[in-house]
This record gives sequence, C-alpha cells and structure tokens, in this order.
Amino acid sequence: MRTLITNIGELVTNDPAPGREDGPLGIVRDAAVLVEDGVVTWVGRAADASSAHPSVEFRPSGLAQGAKIDGSRDASERADVSGTTRPESPSGGERPLGRTQRAEGSSARADLLPNAVVDAVVDAGGRAVIPGFVDSHTHLVFGGDRADEFAARMAGRAYEAGGIRSTVAATRAATDDELRARLAVFVTELHVQGTTTFEIKSGYGLSVADEERLVRLAREVTDEVTFLGAHVVPFEFREDPRFAAADGAGTPEAAARAADAYVDLVVGEMLDACAPHARWVDAFCERGAFTPEQSRRVLEAGAAAGLGIRVHGNQLGPGGGVRLAVELGAASVDHCTYLDDADVAALAASDTVATLLPGVEFSTRQPYPDARRLIDAGVTVALASDCNPGSSFTSSLPFCIAVAVRDMGLTPAEALWASTAGGALALRRTDVGAIRPGARADLVELDAPSHVHLAYRPGVPLVRRVWAAGELVA
Ligand SMILES: [Zn+2]
Repeated sequence: MRTLITNIGELVTNDPAPGREDGPLGIVRDAAVLVEDGVVTWVGRAADASSAHPSVEFRPSGLAQGAKIDGSRDASERADVSGTTRPESPSGGERPLGRTQRAEGSSARADLLPNAVVDAVVDAGGRAVIPGFVDSHTHLVFGGDRADEFAARMAGRAYEAGGIRSTVAATRAATDDELRARLAVFVTELHVQGTTTFEIKSGYGLSVADEERLVRLAREVTDEVTFLGAHVVPFEFREDPRFAAADGAGTPEAAARAADAYVDLVVGEMLDACAPHARWVDAFCERGAFTPEQSRRVLEAGAAAGLGIRVHGNQLGPGGGVRLAVELGAASVDHCTYLDDADVAALAASDTVATLLPGVEFSTRQPYPDARRLIDAGVTVALASDCNPGSSFTSSLPFCIAVAVRDMGLTPAEALWASTAGGALALRRTDVGAIRPGARADLVELDAPSHVHLAYRPGVPLVRRVWAAGELVA
C-alpha cells in the first residue's frame, strides 16, 4: 500500500535539514509525504514529488479528487478507489489506468493517477501536518475515578491522602475485561487527540497478582509498558501491625519499615511476575512514597531484569529523584517541578530527558515546572499527560502544549517538539516522533494552517485526521 499525502501547507518533520525552517521542527512548506506499508519513504516539496520519486506523478489539478479519495470517511468511496487505482502494470507502472478501471471510477479520478503507482492520494487541503504525539507517561489501567476528590480540591478543601487508595481498591475489584474495555476507550481517546505512541504504567495493583495483571493488560495495547510497583506503599503494608512495633503505628519509623518490606516484595516476586510484560521500571521517588535508597533498589533490580529505567521525581518538593535518575542512566525523569541548580546541571550533562507533566500542576493548582530554565540550560525536555484519575485526568497533549506555552515559558515550536520528538527520546525510540524516511508513518493533520494554532486556539479540537503506522485511526 502506497499513499501520497500531499498539498500539506506546513509539514513539521522534526528533521532539520538545509532549507527547512524553524530549527528542530524542520518545517517544509507545500509539502508531500509518501507512505509505503506504514513507513515514511519520502518527504519533500509537493512540487518535487514527481522528480524525487519518479514513480509518483503529481498533478495539482487533480488534488480535489484526491481529497475525496483517501481522505474520505465514506467507506464506499474508499473501497472504490482501492479497486480502481491498483492495476497491475507489467510495464513498470507507466501504463495509464485502463478502460476497465476508469469505467468504475470517475474520469477525473483516472486523470489524477495516470501512472497508477500509488494506491491513494490524500489531499491535506493546505493544512498543517505534524508527527503523531508521543505520550511517554500515562497511568491508564485503573478502575473508578476521583471526580469528587477533584471537585473538593477545586472547592478549596485540602487534599486528603487516601486518593490513590480508592483507585487501588477499585482497580483490584475490576475484572480483566472491565479494565480492557476501559483501556480501549482510552486508546480511542488518545488517537482522536493525535497521540499515536503512548506509554502505560502499572501502579494501581500493588500486589503481585494485580501488578502482573496491569502490565499484562497494558501490553495488549502498547509496547511501552512500565512496571511501577513502587508507586506507593499499599495500605495493607502501612497498616500491618508487624511494622508498628514499639514505635506505634503511624510513626516515620513504622512507615519506613513498611516501605522497606514492600520494596522487598517489589524487587522479588512482583518484578519476576511483571518483567516479562514490561519494557521499563519506574519508582516514585518522593517524600511520602519511596526514598532515594528504596527507589535505587527497585530501579537497579529492574535494570538487572532487563528493563530500562524511568523515575518519578521532584514533583512535590526538592529531593534526590533527579540525581538518582541521572546517575542510573534513566531514559527519563518525570515531573521535575522542584529542581535546584545541581539538578539542572546534572540533567544538562546527561542523556536523561526531563519529562514535564503540566496536567498535574493544572489539576492540583500547584506551581508549574520552569521549562524555560531547563531548555536554556540545554536539558532535553518532553511533555506528557501523566493521565491518571487522581492528579491529571487529561489525555490531551494539545492541552498540555497550550499550558506549557502559556505558563511554562515554552514557545509553540518547543512545546510541539517536546510532545513529539521529546517524547520519543524519553522512550528511547528513533522510529517515532519525526516524519522522515524510515520512520513509522504516524501523522496528524490539523484543522489549522500552522502548528502554532495548537497553543493559540486552546481547547479547540484541531486534530482532523490521524494515521498510525499508515493506518487512518481517527
Ligand atoms: Zn505519573
């Protein structure tokens, strides 16, 4: 299957090259992209499509019909095209459509593809096309929601711990099929908002059987699965009288003993059960969750089991999460809201991506991380949703872009790069996050002439069509 997407007013490639605009975005105006079997095979100016790819004959006059052909959501029309534009030409594709094919389609359509060497032409109508978003941080396998908690927080009532506990209870109570059905809804939700690659973490099971279930279910919908057994210490450990000992329950010493005992489980039986389904290990290195020492145990055990490292760090206050992530060569350290100069310097000197999650600060009314400071220091920044029922129940990267531009000091170009190429780096992926030959054909057509509209028109559904590996998914 070969598809030429053409008449793209502004193509964001994330592949800077001579003659392309806007630094890392590598913008091509009046562009075209050729997709073959789900992979990008050619990118350039529409007017060059013919000479750069001799088998494609490009005729601007036929574009209106091209739009109807593949861009159509009318199944009958699409089926018609596949039947009329695929003659097998023994002479190498130079033969015009034969009489038979022409009879089935319109004469204008036959005129559009005289060589019949592409199966479809898509007309982007002068709109912008960008790489599919790469959401490198979500927690999408869970039961229930916490709308009441959100409403209480927005009404000014203090956040009360126990929020995660309610999600853990609802998740444990849900059947596989219930969680699977929920995931399917989220996947659709991601696609219609332009996200074509997404990571999913476990972390609401917190028992061997439930964590295994969550990574296994996540693996059914994405390759980017993260084992986050070290999300929080589950209540059955916190409340276990064995750890209260002489200090009494609720003391810091008792909490530390409970956390240590839970980490023993995480790095042992739980990791053994989860690692086969996961690509990554993560730990919530934060006061109230896991100390840097406990996090290190989890991350090193995960690495020894063949998993890549990600870290939740420096979300609620300063701490050792960022430096631990850098020291261990983590692909990403996520949140990065409270950083000192040494944290920023360590990130800048490393390959660890700083992944910022503005949905969290938005939904908890906390100060945003300073993205400008990070970029100016030379840190690689990604934007992700952190979609989860407690602190950020948005799956929209266009929303995150708008917030990052409005409140975190990013330019529209930087925010788009961070949510595509930056996300890909955070997942150590080279096949997504850019539109270049060899990349997976993950493309988003915006109902806008420019990527700037993503931040300029916040809240407006600008995603018009989405291709994942060349398949139209929204
Ligand atoms: Zn998270």
